[in-house]
This record gives sequence, structure tokens and C-alpha cells, in this order.
Amino acid sequence: MKKADRIVFATGNTDKVREIREITKDFDIPVVSMKEAGVETDIIEDGNSFEENSLIKARAVWEECGGLVLSDDSGLEIDALNKEPGILSARYLGKDTSYHEKNNDLIRRLEGVPDEKRTARFVCAVTAVFPDGSHKTVRGVMEGRIGYEERGENGFGYDPIFILPQYGVTTAELPPDVKNEESHRGKALRLIRKEIERYLGQLPRT
Ligand code: IMP
Repeated sequence: MKKADRIVFATGNTDKVREIREITKDFDIPVVSMKEAGVETDIIEDGNSFEENSLIKARAVWEECGGLVLSDDSGLEIDALNKEPGILSARYLGKDTSYHEKNNDLIRRLEGVPDEKRTARFVCAVTAVFPDGSHKTVRGVMEGRIGYEERGENGFGYDPIFILPQYGVTTAELPPDVKNEESHRGKALRLIRKEIERYLGQLPRT
């Protein structure tokens, strides 16, 4: 079994790199972005699920630099809209369209849909490709409902319309540490952390 001296996170998103650094801080292994690792491949995310897309990204980066590579793919599923925007969440209405427009378009499409049918969830798949080429993919989910207007200034993307029923507020109204505790990404990263620990635990001690 091969060793890992760093974790390469297959994303250009600095917020995500910060989040994974936070969760793996006691590992003693530095986390670097793919840019910091010198990987500049253009990755085509043409999978049919969050899991497939996270594996495609992690595998493409691993092919370039090897070692221990992590990647995530996430999005919002709205039940009344047949799970749209789903894996196309980032590209919904075009990737350059503002989230204010995307959010208001989704609210408009849900006109007349009562509270109990406005169920939705954020989903996050995280894949780790290990130094020996094996991989593990895990999924984290946060269940909620779509509101009737945008509320809150925290978070990003679809947070202002996503209500967490147990808090009665949107994820854009929650403090970041509470959102991380509850979030799809936080849950998936904590699960993958266990898989990394398992891999590292099998390594011979040096
Ligand atoms: P990606 O995983 O970076 O491709 O992001 C997928 C899409 O889902 C983006 O459009 C995000 O805005 C949205 N998304 C993923 N996680 C969250 C979240 O925690 N809050 C709000 N939007 C999210």
C-alpha cells in the first residue's frame, strides 16, 4: 500500500478547500487545491449522478498527479420539479445567470405548490481516490423545503430559498458553523474522513 503525503482537492473553489482543510486539520497531511498541485486539466462532468461526476473529477486529477485526491459534486433536488435542478444545479438557466434570478425562477415554478409538497434536499457526493488507485465515494444529504421568497445573507447559491424545518430559517440565515454541522457537504466530508483514516490506518508505520 502506498503512502500519502498530501491531499489534492479537485476543485477551483477556495471555499471548498478551506472546508476540507478544517475537517482534516488533525491529519498532519496538507490539503492543496488542484491549481496548487499544478493540475490544469479541463474536466468534462458528463456523469448521470452526483457520485459519477465526483468520481470523474477525482479520477481525472489523480491521473495527472497521483497520490490522495478528493473531489465533490453537489446540487439541489426539488421533488415537485422532478428533482430539478439536480446535477445541473450550477448550470441551471446558464452558469452566468445570477442566483437571485435562478432562485426566483424556481420560486415562480413552484407557484401554487403547498408547503408539504415543497420538499427538497441538498446532496453532496465526495470521492477519494487513494494512492494505490482504489477509490471510495460517499453521499451526504440535507433535507428541507423551498420557501416563498429569498431570505438571508450567509452561504451562497440556493441557500436563500432553502428552509431547514427544524430551525425554521433558510440556510442563508444560519451561522456558517451551524450550516456546516447540518450540511450535505459537511456530512459527506466527515464520512470520507473516516475512509481516509481507514486507508492511512492500514499503512505500515515508518
Ligand atoms: P458544484 O458542486 O460546485 O458543482 O456546485 C453545484 C451547485 O449546487 C452550485 O450551483 C451551488 O450553488 C449549488 N449548491 C451546492 N451546495 C450548496 C449549498 O450548500 N448551498 C447553496 N447552493 C449549493
